[in-house]
Amino acid sequence: MDRAEAMLRELNLYPQWTLRASVEEVVAAPLKVANAGASLLAKEVREQARSYEESSGVSSVQRDEPDLAASALFVPAKTWPELKQQVRACERCELRAGCTQTVFGMGNEQADWLFVGEGPGADEDAQGEPFVGQAGKLLDNMLASIKLTRGKQVYIANIVKCRPPENRNPKAEEIAQCLPYLQRQIELIQPKLVVALGKVAANSLLGHEATLASLRGTLHDYHGTPLVVTYHPAYLLRSPSEKAKAWQDLRFAVDVMNGVQR
Ligand code: URA
Repeated sequence: MDRAEAMLRELNLYPQWTLRASVEEVVAAPLKVANAGASLLAKEVREQARSYEESSGVSSVQRDEPDLAASALFVPAKTWPELKQQVRACERCELRAGCTQTVFGMGNEQADWLFVGEGPGADEDAQGEPFVGQAGKLLDNMLASIKLTRGKQVYIANIVKCRPPENRNPKAEEIAQCLPYLQRQIELIQPKLVVALGKVAANSLLGHEATLASLRGTLHDYHGTPLVVTYHPAYLLRSPSEKAKAWQDLRFAVDVMNGVQR
């Protein structure tokens, strides 16, 4: 079994996701572009992104802030215990009235890796932990494929802490009210890399509307922390053929973490 096949097995993608020569080609090509700006150091990220933008004419890093007054005016608590209590008591939007409990986040509070999803689903709402349902199992497999374990090198959080009814996407207003909590979590964790899972997480963190396709394979900057974007595991469960691209994104993330230049 070669290395690629072993990794695919770890991701639970083999033989369902069969190895084809074209997968390797797909994997290699965009990484060459994306990794032109890859580095762990925030300053280097910005410098390389700027020079990439100049040479390619393509905007590689988005630094827009969410333009939402609600998010700007609210000051979240400073410490972990206070912040957890503040989230538990939060009623800043109507989501709290419709959910069982808030889902704060879980994992190593000094993790190098932060994975950010959209919001709790039914299982998370019942258990009070992020990504504990089917999507969570796939996320754990994705983590294992790059030798990461939930709770060890990883912290997992969501954009909104309360389950939206019928698993609808959180509204802009709900995101605006909740985002300061995640921002404070990120300030406290100080991760080396943020991985945004899906379009809602990516657009909320980057503060602008863009397609997932346009955000993948590029190194973004979140307030000085490198950020990469990949598919949401729930989407991958519905569209298993896209797992090859998610694998490509995870490899990109590892390269960014390792400061690899291709
Ligand atoms: N989907 C998410 O975005 N977050 C979770 O915690 C679970 C499912």
